[in-house]
Amino acid sequence: MKSTQLIDLNYRGRFAPSPTGPLHFGSLVAAVGSYLDAKYHHGKWLVRIEDVDSQREVPGAASGILYQLERLGMEWDEEVIYQSQRSGAYLEALNILNKQGLIYPCTCSRKEIADSSIIGLNGRVYPGTCLKNPASIKNVHALRIQTNNDPIQFEDILNGTYSQRLKSDVGDFVLRRADGIYAYQLAVVVDDAAQNITHVVRGADLLDSTPRQIFLQQLLGYPIPQYLHLPVVTNARGEKLSKQTNAASITISNALPQLVDAVHFLGQQPPPEILEGNISSFWQWAQQNWSVDLIAH
Ligand code: GLU
Ligand code: ZN
Repeated sequence: MKSTQLIDLNYRGRFAPSPTGPLHFGSLVAAVGSYLDAKYHHGKWLVRIEDVDSQREVPGAASGILYQLERLGMEWDEEVIYQSQRSGAYLEALNILNKQGLIYPCTCSRKEIADSSIIGLNGRVYPGTCLKNPASIKNVHALRIQTNNDPIQFEDILNGTYSQRLKSDVGDFVLRRADGIYAYQLAVVVDDAAQNITHVVRGADLLDSTPRQIFLQQLLGYPIPQYLHLPVVTNARGEKLSKQTNAASITISNALPQLVDAVHFLGQQPPPEILEGNISSFWQWAQQNWSVDLIAH
């Protein structure tokens, strides 16, 4: 494990929720973990609304999340950015990759891919059909990036070494969908760079996305942040808490016990009296005593 130095004034972390519903305990844990790690280092904590996929967005969810964060005492240090307003930046990045000859159109349907591919680490491994037999851009098409099998490896602050060979583990992946929506993998990389993020603290469900993001960062000449993937909160059925699994919203009227539960989930050991205080005494304790070494991994 990397030692985590206490004061790092250049530290810039972020919380990047998708506005598909209110904060639930799972997203609260990601918010709290990223916030405490930033504050512990005396760094900045930014919030970015990942509303790139307008079809998944629930009206009012973004402002609802921001309201919940405020009421939970989690203040962000710079203006919130919205991915829905950043298509120009994503297109610019796509053009840079295209100039490197790495982008190709793909007209395959889900069914065609399902019939011709194997399951990899993160769903189907696209078999490269449209790379071998170029698709006509006159038809509606997604844009994919050509990957390779050079190992991409990084040291996760909590989980240690993680490595993938993109071509065989995930395949050539989509950067822009056929409906024109930019893929999460591209948007997150462009925005982490634009916001000069030095530390990405998020759920371990995104651990297997990180090599794709590092691949794009390398090609785009962006710095590679440090990554810390937190354990994922699951329900009694072992499913990740999410809107799809009907996770309950965090209620701000009794925020303190939920914040205490979140730090407990992250292995922190607040004294029982913490519940007798208020939100500001909670945060004071939590910031001073934050210890990554206590998180289960
Ligand atoms: N928007 C993603 C989510 O809500 C998180 C992206 C990230 O932290 O990189 O799951
Ligand atoms: Zn194709």
